[in-house]
Amino acid sequence: MTGPLTTADIREKYLSFFESKGHLRLPSHSLIAPDPTTLFTVAGMQPFKAQFMGAPARFSGHGENKRVTTAQKCLRVGDIENVGRTLRHCSLLEMLGNFSFGDYFKREALTWAWEFLTGPEWMGLDPSKLYATIYEDDEEAFTIWTKEIGLPESHILRFGADENFWPADAPAKGPNGPCGPCSEIFYDRGPKYGLDTWADYAETRESARFLEIWNNVFPQYDRQDPQPDGTPVLADLPFKNIDTGMGLERIATVVQDVYDFYSNDVFAPIIARIAELSGKPYEGVQSLSHRVVAEHIRSVSMTLTDGVAFSPNGRGSVLRKIMRRASRHAYLLGLREPTLYKLVPLVVERMGGAYPELAQEEARVTAAIRTEEEGFLRTLESGIQRIGNMLNGLERGAVLSGQNAFLLYDTYGFPLDLTKEIAEEYGVSVDEAAYAESLEKAQEIARAGSKYGKSELFGGNQEALEGLPATQFVGYDELIAEGEVLALIGAGERLAHLPAGSEATVVLSRTPFYAEGGGEVGDTGALEWDSANGERGRGQVRDTRKTPVGVFLHDVQVEEGELKPGDTVRSVVSRERQAIQRHHTATHLLHAALRAVLGAGVRQAGSLVAAERLRFDFSHGAAMTLDEIAQVERLVNRWVTANFPVTWREMPIEEAKAAGATALFGEKYGDTVRVVRVEGSVPFGDTTVASMELCGGTHVRHTGDIGAFVIVADENVAAGVRRIEALAGEAATAWVRERLQSAARVAGLLNTSAEGLEARVSGLQAQLRAAQQETAQVRRQLAEAQMGGGGSAQQVRELGGFRVAALKLSGIEGNELRGAADKLLDQSGADLAVIASDKGLVVKATKDAVGRGAHAGQLAGKLAAAAGGKGGGRPDMAQAGIQNPEAALGALDTAF
Ligand code: ATP
Ligand code: MG
Repeated sequence: MTGPLTTADIREKYLSFFESKGHLRLPSHSLIAPDPTTLFTVAGMQPFKAQFMGAPARFSGHGENKRVTTAQKCLRVGDIENVGRTLRHCSLLEMLGNFSFGDYFKREALTWAWEFLTGPEWMGLDPSKLYATIYEDDEEAFTIWTKEIGLPESHILRFGADENFWPADAPAKGPNGPCGPCSEIFYDRGPKYGLDTWADYAETRESARFLEIWNNVFPQYDRQDPQPDGTPVLADLPFKNIDTGMGLERIATVVQDVYDFYSNDVFAPIIARIAELSGKPYEGVQSLSHRVVAEHIRSVSMTLTDGVAFSPNGRGSVLRKIMRRASRHAYLLGLREPTLYKLVPLVVERMGGAYPELAQEEARVTAAIRTEEEGFLRTLESGIQRIGNMLNGLERGAVLSGQNAFLLYDTYGFPLDLTKEIAEEYGVSVDEAAYAESLEKAQEIARAGSKYGKSELFGGNQEALEGLPATQFVGYDELIAEGEVLALIGAGERLAHLPAGSEATVVLSRTPFYAEGGGEVGDTGALEWDSANGERGRGQVRDTRKTPVGVFLHDVQVEEGELKPGDTVRSVVSRERQAIQRHHTATHLLHAALRAVLGAGVRQAGSLVAAERLRFDFSHGAAMTLDEIAQVERLVNRWVTANFPVTWREMPIEEAKAAGATALFGEKYGDTVRVVRVEGSVPFGDTTVASMELCGGTHVRHTGDIGAFVIVADENVAAGVRRIEALAGEAATAWVRERLQSAARVAGLLNTSAEGLEARVSGLQAQLRAAQQETAQVRRQLAEAQMGGGGSAQQVRELGGFRVAALKLSGIEGNELRGAADKLLDQSGADLAVIASDKGLVVKATKDAVGRGAHAGQLAGKLAAAAGGKGGGRPDMAQAGIQNPEAALGALDTAF
């Protein structure tokens, strides 16, 4: 082979190496986390939580496999501000992992890692450059490293549980449950990167020279409550696991011997393209922007591909944050038009081999990024106006407060460096220390509320959930059922009793409460029981969720009596469930109707089924016409009226797929699936519904139970993805009634009937347009009369090396003022045109003048200040609100 291994080569070698050691190669899970405790997949082990906790290691289409290997795409946004600044952190990374579920342990894990890293036919790294850290008292790992592998003792450092234990600090601080020491492997990149030594690393724990490439975690203990004197208790687990993770970007950097991962074969071409598009070479301080854009465009493209859309909250808001950081850096590189979407094909080219879904979704992803960029650039413009206002109020030499700088960052997405750059033009500096303080405070709040911290991987309740069986769910058929209380859990602890007024998580042997999933919200309702002291007990169920292994968690507030493990409770699901079921079956009908009307290209991209409404996201290139919406709605209502039976059945997944059941993109299914079916054709009509979906949700028994169906909103959520909101049953009829009443009220205001509204409004609009045109015409005439009048105060003067044309007008504002400035620039051939009237001031500068250092915004600011007003703007165009044109023009001589 010629040249170093490519990233794709390394990925493939890793997976086939572990296949040769008896591992099953599985595909990457989606970036959307496999369980509800985290937003995104952040580590290779995450899809296997259930197996680490003892579930059978059986994977769809395969028998039992206790050894598995994957290349898992991961998204880590915890320290996103560092991406681009350090040479080792990505927001999107590929984690190469080998896993053992109670099969092999430390010896195999470490010796295989060594064989893979140093073997000439594998990575072929120089063994003398490899180093390892181990947990302080992990003698087993120490012996394997030194005696069996032959790593010199001087290449090993021991760290405490803060560094070399997973979860970090578990022995002393918990959580209880599976945990274990880990051993990290480092590569010495040589003195080019730093003159520090391995011994120094014991102190510094930060190095550009010694790069952590691989973490081998040994979950071997069951952490239990400490002894009364605080001594940690670590019992041996019945079976021991192996969980490893090697960053593909990092090993590629090492193997290709390049400066950082931005110079490897995936990123170098993207960086080069950014330099080309922006005309800014990849060098110096600005190179940070190239790196940020290159790294983020990859994570954004891949996250969009996996079905996350830009949105104001949840996963979509994280995605938006990454995108905005990239856009800001593109802006810093001088890019003023949407440009980042042009990089998507390159991402697809570089990553598409390993992730073919990228190519399939390329058009949708490109369009979504472009739309987002357009939106953001508009936001940025308004931010620029905002900052202009803040700065105009300040003297040269003044300081912009940290709070204001943070406000700009937080609400307009202005990074500090952009704020500083603009402030500099005004001769204003920024209070960076105060800014950092505000930022730190905000980050603390975000961290506290973050659901995807590392320690959350097993969920805070992991220990307390240990040993509980999967809950028997009877809620498809029953809304009231009895069950036994198996556990009460609060703040990660098992509780012995729940007194009235307290809140906790309740686990039952049997439950009719549906746990949130598949878009359907969790059930609410009540628990009732007889308390030990003969009192009646009662609690509210606020929400229901479930763990990856099927333990249902009821969030309960006790209202009366006391609840204890072992009590038998009567579970009563709230009547809202009926509305939820209506909305769920209506969702399936809507899906079928959309496919019937818009074509089979429609694919579900997400849904929400609640008592109040349903929301359905789907891929479709164009906005729906009013006609199409009406057609879809009519179709669904026909199927409702026809009262078809709704049936469900469990079957092996292969059988369901063979029968043509619709499965959801990116969703993971077990071997046995539930298929929900609505089938029939409308008598005397022309419509047939054939809906068959893999679905674990709750449904009505007959479509007639839906009652009525109305589409209330249709909007764009991302380019190529539409969102429909619809209502069923009473919610639908109530909504229609409210609309009719509102139309009647508006008609009353306009002295017409609901039927006459359209004609009345378009008549009014026409009148308004005519009036506006007339006013504009009059203003233009007024401006022209004054400009052409010769006698006006037009003069061209030489000021500060520029030819400046100035003119006073009266009664002119806004658009006409700007038009007049253009005209003046044209007529006079000057570099700068200044027009002042009693209603405002406009300054315009030619491109050439701006190139020579003219700044319309600064000039406008000064002239306005002389007239007691405020204003500012861009170097080529600026305006200000003033009332005294003489004063403004009088300041011209001193303004340069
Ligand atoms: P670091 O201390 O360098 O931030 P980490 O200890 O957070 O890394 P782990 O959680 O142990 O990393 O992840 C296992 C491996 O995944 C690391 O050894 C590294 O190779 C890789 N990795 C982790 N985080 C990143 C990242 N942000 N970018 C690139 N690779 C990463
Ligand atoms: Mg690590």
